[in-house]
Order: sequence, then C-alpha cells, then structure tokens
Amino acid sequence: MILPIAKGEIDKPDLLTVLAAEGINLNRNNMARCPFHDDRTPSLKVFPDSQTFHCFGCGKHGDVISFIREYKSLSFKGAISYLGIESKPTPDGHKRQDALRRKKNLRGFLFKWRRRYQNALIDRLRELENIDSEIRNNPMVDGADPWDRVSLMAEIPHLEWKIELMQSGDLETIIDIYEDFVR
Ligand SMILES: [Zn+2]
Repeated sequence: MILPIAKGEIDKPDLLTVLAAEGINLNRNNMARCPFHDDRTPSLKVFPDSQTFHCFGCGKHGDVISFIREYKSLSFKGAISYLGIESKPTPDGHKRQDALRRKKNLRGFLFKWRRRYQNALIDRLRELENIDSEIRNNPMVDGADPWDRVSLMAEIPHLEWKIELMQSGDLETIIDIYEDFVR
C-alpha cells in the first residue's frame, strides 16, 4: 500500500536535476524525448515551478517520485530511497523532540543543582565535624546546651547519607532530594 504523503512532509530533490542525472536532456523549452513511449520528437514537458512533468504523447505525468518509480520500475518506497529522500519530522516528531529536549534540560539543571547542593552539604558536614572535634578536644569550650550538641552531631550521619545518596543516585533519586529541598 502506498501511504499518501502530505505536501511539505518530504523534501523532494529537484526534478530537473534528477532528469539530468538520468541522462534525460531537456531542450530550451524544457521538453525531452519521453522515455515512456517511443518518442521521435520531444513530447515530455517539464514544469520547473510545479516540479511536475507531462507527456503530450503518452499522457504520463507526475512528480519526481512518480517519474523515478516509472523510469526505474520501483515501488514508492524504492523510489524514495533511490532519490535519497528522508521524511521530515512530523509535528508528533517535533513534540517528541521537544519532550526529549525538556528532559535533557531538566537533567542538566538537576545535575548542576546536585553539584551545588552536594558542595553545600559537604561544607556543612566539614563544619559539623570541626565543631565535633573541637568539643571532643575541649568539652568546656562553649556553654552550649549539651542537647544542642547532640542534635548538631545527629545531623552528621544524615548529611553523610544524603551526600552518598546523591553521589550514587540516579535521576529519580536526585528529583526526590530536590523536591524535598524545595518543599
Ligand atoms: Zn510519453
């Protein structure tokens, strides 16, 4: 079955160029001897503007694809690939590309954010570790409530866990952490 191709969906090569490549020479009136019937005088007319041809002898007419189909005895698909035509992305294709681009952008954003957030977490961890060692070396260094210290120190394993999770995390994990962060 030949699927109809809507106008503008494919880029067709120039009919005159293809004819020349096939050894069909046009005269000054864009007429050639028709390859589809025993033509003594040029009766095949090519219309560059509409990129179509018409034979006044045998009545054959069409565009570059139908010309090649007929001339090379090819199927529609065969003619398409003979001419090296590629389908343009359809609107659906554009949507898919947009979705892919959005996903890529989101990914890029999240990975950038991860690097920043991870650095912030590491800074915080270093800070707590310094406080921790300071308290260990000199328990009387400040008058802070011991319970404040306990909650400060409790933050350390939580930070370590979060940093580790982010480092090994896939996109889903990073999204979870990000959503937790902006909540
Ligand atoms: Zn003809």
